[in-house]
Amino acid sequence: SSKSKVAIVGSGNWGSVAAKLVASNTLKLSSFHDEVRMWVFEETLPSGEKLSDVINQKHENVKYLPGIKLGENVVADPDVVSAVKDANMLVFVTPHQFIDGICKKLAGNIRQDAVGISLIKGMDLKPEGPNMVSKLIKDSLQIDCCVLMGANIANEIAVEQFSEATVGYAENKPTADEWVRLFNTNFFSVSAVQDVEGVELCGTLKNVVAIAAGLVDGLELGNNTKAAIMRIGLNEMRAFCKMLFPSVSDATFFESCGVADLVTTCLGGRNRKCAEAFAKNGGKRSFDELEAEMLQGQKLQGALTAKEVYIVLSQRGCLQMFPLFTTVYHICSGRLPPSDIVRYRDHVNISA
Ligand code: NAD
Ligand code: 13P
Ligand code: CA
Repeated sequence: SSKSKVAIVGSGNWGSVAAKLVASNTLKLSSFHDEVRMWVFEETLPSGEKLSDVINQKHENVKYLPGIKLGENVVADPDVVSAVKDANMLVFVTPHQFIDGICKKLAGNIRQDAVGISLIKGMDLKPEGPNMVSKLIKDSLQIDCCVLMGANIANEIAVEQFSEATVGYAENKPTADEWVRLFNTNFFSVSAVQDVEGVELCGTLKNVVAIAAGLVDGLELGNNTKAAIMRIGLNEMRAFCKMLFPSVSDATFFESCGVADLVTTCLGGRNRKCAEAFAKNGGKRSFDELEAEMLQGQKLQGALTAKEVYIVLSQRGCLQMFPLFTTVYHICSGRLPPSDIVRYRDHVNISA
């Protein structure tokens, strides 16, 4: 038939909420097949059961989104190729460090007419330079790829609190509109803008600013300091976007993917939370350690993104234009103490 069939590639905290959102709409809308396949990176729970089996029995991701029903039309599949094989609409939502390997498995194994959307905040770094995740998906799978980013703390959307999101597209407006139809609900207000790079880079870079905001919290500095760090961070986000893609529009920063995502992540995100703990420990415990201890298997994107951004900036000889991003990296890597976040102007010329 001509009905669209959706698959979700990923099943972490946001991946599970995305599956729930989409599955509520595929039930309501006749142009979509009801069933939504969700790829699960398989693991064995302490009970000895497989996560994918438990999701299919309880309709709940007991590890990454406990207490929330996903809908009976969400079917967990531990085999990524089998999860996508019948689908023409592919939703990519994994921690960014895994997407390259997943695309290698999927190449040549998807429908000819498939299109994709990336909910992944992060970038892919190769020796040749930075690549956006949507571009990696587009090039390795030979498909159109939009992005969806926004002020979207997953646990709040899971309990259906109102929020907004931005779909970014390159040229194909009808496809972007189809993604809006798939994701939009009465509590999740989605709109599309023609600026795929701007939308995706906002979602990626705000995680670095969120680390800075969390350091401020851990140092017990007040709201003025945090607001200053957010403002400076937003300026560096814009400068970085325009350096990589001069086409990025200023208007994009006023969409949900821009300032709104920056605010929510700096107030309530996981990057903020772990950075707060990092500062409270005086930088003596690494982000990897804190992530493993505090996030129950969920993954931080900000510390790794800070390193990726630093590499891009040093390759281009532009570190001095990005003192906050540079200082966040030096703090994450232990070269500077957390308290130096407010002395970011002194550290633009430090050598690695
Ligand atoms: P998560 O942080 O919950 O990460 C855990 C997921 O990673 C699990 O599904 C786990 O099985 C998987 N995983 C672990 N090791 C793996 C491996 N080796 N290969 C493949 N998968 C592996 O994931 P998430 O919250 O769904 O985040 C996915 C993306 O969405 C990220 O880029 C994140 O920044 C973004 N995002 C998250 C939120 C949020 O509130 N959680 C909101 C918006 C955007
Ligand atoms: P964290 O990964 O810091 O929790 O941010 C979530 C997010 O991207 C909200 O939009
Ligand atoms: Ca339907």
